[in-house]
Amino acid sequence: MRMHTSAHILAAVINKELGALITGNQLEEKQSRMDFNVKDFDRSLLKTFEEKANGVIAQGMDVKVSFLEREQALQNSALFRLKDVLPKDLPVLRIVSIGEFDVQADGGTHVKNTAETGKMKIVDFKNKGAENRRIYWELE
Ligand SMILES: [Zn+2]
Repeated sequence: MRMHTSAHILAAVINKELGALITGNQLEEKQSRMDFNVKDFDRSLLKTFEEKANGVIAQGMDVKVSFLEREQALQNSALFRLKDVLPKDLPVLRIVSIGEFDVQADGGTHVKNTAETGKMKIVDFKNKGAENRRIYWELE
């Protein structure tokens, strides 16, 4: 739940900073990774990502779940930044919001407040192809 919540935060930071789409992620207990799509990437941004994500964590934002009619949700593409496969037959979608910071359609389980996530540390970075970047992170 901590990792999952931290993935939301990091994805939102990357998206806000670069406008990049998240193309995949793999969450593990100790270390997780996230791929995003951007042509030119300045590695010094990794520090910015970490600082901004930890800012959200430190602010202790409430993580809340609500529900939205499928048709209504589909009108807001910002809700689907993470390339999760959307279940075809769900008439109502589950929406996860992190304070005023981020809102996503999502079926996963999360902590109740970002403060529970623990501090994030970006531990590695790789270029995976011309436009795909991969970040690895851990939680304290
Ligand atoms: Zn989630």
